[in-house]
Amino acid sequence: MTDVLVVGSGAGGVHAAWPLVERGLEVAMLDYGNEDREYASLVPSEPWLALRTTDESQHRYLLGDRFEGITLGGIRVGAQLTPPRLFIPADTERLTPVDSATFSATESLAKGGLAAGWGAGVFPFDDADLAGAPISAADLAPHYEAVAERIGVAGDDDDDLRPFLGECRAMMPAMAIDSGAERVMARYAAQRERLNAAGLFVGRTRLAACTREHRGRGPHRYFDMDFWADDRRAVYRPRWTLDELAAKDGFELRDRRLVSAFREDESGVVVTTTHADTGEREEHRARALVLAAGALGTVRIVLRSLDRYGTPVPILCNPYTYAPVLNVGMLGREARDERHSLAQLTAIYRPEAADGRIVQAQYYSYRSLLLFKLMKEAPIGHREARAILRRLQPVLGILGIHHEDRPSARKTCVLHRGPEGGPDRLAIDYRLDDAEALRHDREERRLFALFRRLGCFALKRIRPGHGSAIHYAGTIPFGPEGKGLTCDRDCRVRGTRRVHLADGAVFPYLPAKGLTFTIMANADRVGTLLANELA
Ligand SMILES: Cc1cc2nc3c(=O)[nH]c(=O)nc-3n(C[C@H](O)[C@H](O)[C@H](O)COP(=O)(O)OP(=O)(O)OC[C@H]3O[C@@H](n4cnc5c(N)ncnc54)[C@H](O)[C@@H]3O)c2cc1C
Repeated sequence: MTDVLVVGSGAGGVHAAWPLVERGLEVAMLDYGNEDREYASLVPSEPWLALRTTDESQHRYLLGDRFEGITLGGIRVGAQLTPPRLFIPADTERLTPVDSATFSATESLAKGGLAAGWGAGVFPFDDADLAGAPISAADLAPHYEAVAERIGVAGDDDDDLRPFLGECRAMMPAMAIDSGAERVMARYAAQRERLNAAGLFVGRTRLAACTREHRGRGPHRYFDMDFWADDRRAVYRPRWTLDELAAKDGFELRDRRLVSAFREDESGVVVTTTHADTGEREEHRARALVLAAGALGTVRIVLRSLDRYGTPVPILCNPYTYAPVLNVGMLGREARDERHSLAQLTAIYRPEAADGRIVQAQYYSYRSLLLFKLMKEAPIGHREARAILRRLQPVLGILGIHHEDRPSARKTCVLHRGPEGGPDRLAIDYRLDDAEALRHDREERRLFALFRRLGCFALKRIRPGHGSAIHYAGTIPFGPEGKGLTCDRDCRVRGTRRVHLADGAVFPYLPAKGLTFTIMANADRVGTLLANELA
């Protein structure tokens, strides 16, 4: 019999599977497994400007064969999801529907999950970030190191972010920043002490990307194509770990399976699936189960399996605001063509008297996402906006701001049984209370004021709506013994013998830092604990 079934091939699933396979256990991964079969082969391995001026087929992948890259209407979640990345959320509206008037959920049924298109920002949690969890940063430390080595992380190990992010021995030298970010850092260096005293700390973003050859990937070539392609696989995607796993004895990928539920019997765990192509119902048996279907996918499977339809559970997602900014330090200067497209800089703002709470912002220069996405936000006609934005482009940046999130009675999700033959529906209700909303407003204003000192002037504040950070957590959180729909320290779902969780579902609190690197480290911890138990 298979030792462990792992559901999901995303950031959580592959890193839970790794230590199990390394210990010689038989692991089968169940995944829906959507892939891009349309665009990847069309995108040339060339720098952005070169293909913009020479590639006659560029409209196919920039706009999409069905113009799916052009979004009409309001402000959209996941602007980084370009046509070559649209396989990531494919089929979710149909198979994993969400009902909500207050929350936009972006889920994935793809090989590699959401991180097939993530921004690769790596932000280890410290003890304050793990508030409410029965594990400490010290428990995660060896797993952060193991995962950093596996995925390749580049960053500065001696900058102003280190007190917030800690050290990482496996880290490669940081990615080079572009001309716009260099101007910001020059101004930061000149006023560093005063800015630090005001609570602002800035450094190059730690990225899951290879600045040198690592496990057959990279080095990154600064083509500014990171939203469109995976040149040399330099930027980390869970798919690369999946490929490594697939080459190992004891690992089997059972894809094209939609997992519906689990049950336990004397021999272990039984998982039921429906085949995506044939519709065939199947059962898979193993000694243990690890669920890593994403915080929303996992809560669906748990609520359905335990027959807890209609029971509200918490949901967390970092409140997110972004602003186009004018980086006046770039006025009259030429921007170097070579650059990566990911976050150039990370700013951590620690408000006075915030008990260790932080606000985190990422600074991006704006080029390869195409100007038409910003044109929609301009308060003038499209023709004029296009002309102005073209001239402003070297000066344009984006500041993306994340706030912490805590559970409350106003942030819940409930699974409802689907109508006859149809999929179950997850109803999400997410509202901030007035104190949270006021605090976000105040702290964003303060952050914009500090960024003005760095030469960056916010043009407009855009709140794309709850859920737009795509950082989901807290649906089956760590909780005390006896409390249902929680998990224990080993991420075992309470009331089950061997059903473990390895995604964001377990975290009862979300700091402002992106959680994915911690999902991976905790998944590695869960896989290691389970391997000790089963091997
Ligand atoms: C554009 C974008 C940028 C981002 N940038 C960052 C960043 O810079 N830093 C950061 O920390 N985070 C970032 N994130 C968030 C990050 O991508 C997610 O936190 C992370 O990918 C979640 O991983 P996961 O494995 O928990 O779940 P998912 O990625 O959702 O993976 C779920 C997996 O389970 C499978 N699955 C789900 N349900 C079923 C089912 N019923 N049956 C079979 N298979 C199923 C899916 O196929 C998939 O393989 C970003 C996300 C996006 C979209």
